[in-house]
Amino acid sequence: MADSLPHLALGRAPTPVRLLEGLGGRSPVWVKDESGYGDGGWGGNKVRKLEWLLPEARRRRAHTILTVGGLGTNWGLAVALYARAEGLDVALGLIDHPIDEHTREQLRRLRASGARLHFLHTKARLVLAAPWLIARHTHGGRLPYYLPAGGSSPLGALGSVETALELASQVSRGLLPEPGWIVTPVGSGGTAAGLALGLRLAGLRTRVLGAVVNDTLRLDSAALTALAAKSLALLRARGARLPQVGLGADDIVAERGWLGPGYAHPTAQGRAALQRAAGQAGLRLEQTYTAKAFAALLDLDASGRLGGEPVLFLNTFGPR
Ligand SMILES: *Cc1c(COP(=O)(O)O)cnc(C)c1O
Repeated sequence: MADSLPHLALGRAPTPVRLLEGLGGRSPVWVKDESGYGDGGWGGNKVRKLEWLLPEARRRRAHTILTVGGLGTNWGLAVALYARAEGLDVALGLIDHPIDEHTREQLRRLRASGARLHFLHTKARLVLAAPWLIARHTHGGRLPYYLPAGGSSPLGALGSVETALELASQVSRGLLPEPGWIVTPVGSGGTAAGLALGLRLAGLRTRVLGAVVNDTLRLDSAALTALAAKSLALLRARGARLPQVGLGADDIVAERGWLGPGYAHPTAQGRAALQRAAGQAGLRLEQTYTAKAFAALLDLDASGRLGGEPVLFLNTFGPR
C-alpha cells in the first residue's frame, strides 16, 4: 500500500467469501472467512495486523514485543506464535475475565508458546506494573516494542484495510454483491476502523456495523473513526498516494446491545447465535467475539434495520 511500509505476508489471500444459506432472514447473508488466514498455527484477523507490526518491530530492532490482553487472548496467542517464529521474544500482561473451557485451552496454548506470561489480574494493576514490565523486558538498552490490546494501533489496523480492498476486488469480480453492511465484532477496534478506511479507499458504499464486545476500552463510532483517520494519515506520511476520502461518523455504527455483562461474559443471545450459525450455516463461532456479532446481525436483520440489503459477516476467529 505504501512503498516505505514494510509488510510480511503471513497468510494466503484472498480469503473465501460464501453465501450462508438456510438462515431464512430478510437480507442475504454472506461470510468472508478469515479463519483460514495465517500459516503459523493460528488464524483470523490478528494475523493480518501482525503482517504490518512485525516488520516495524524489526525496523526498531526490538528484542521483545510487549503486549496485553485477557486470559484467553487470541491476540496474545497470535503474537506469541508469529513473533517468536520471527525470532522475537514475547511478553504478555494478562488480566482476568470469566474462564470457560475455551479460555483454559487458550491458556494451555499460551503457556506452550514460549511467551513470558505476567498475570496482573486487573487493568489497574496492569497500568501500575507497566514501568516494571518495560524495564524487565529491556535487553541491552533495547526497549520492548509495546503494542496495544488487540494490536489496534494505526499500523495494525492496516491489516483490515487490506481485507476491505480484497473484498472490493471480490465484488468487482462478481463473487458477491456489494454488501450494504459488513458486520464485525469490535474488541479493540482495529478491525472495524481498518475496514471502514479500506471500504472508502476502494470506493464501495458498504458501511461497517460493529458489535462492541469489550467494555474496558472506549469503542464508540467517534473513537473508531479517529483510529481510521490515523491509519490514513500514516499511509500518507509513508508516501502512499491515495484518493480523497471522507471518513465520517456514519461510516462505522457501533452497537453495544449484544455485549451482555461485559468482555468475555457469555450471553444467551450469543449462545443461540452460535448454535444457529453451526446448525444452519456450517459456521464455527466462539462466545467472546463472533457469536455476539452474529447475534447482532440476526437481530438487526430480523428487525429490518439492515434494510434487506446483502450483509457480509466477517468471520474473525481462527482456531487450528
Ligand atoms: C480480536 C478479535 C476480534 C476483534 O478485533 P479488534 O480488531 O480487536 O476489534 C474479533 N474476533 C476475534 C475472534 C478476535 O480474536
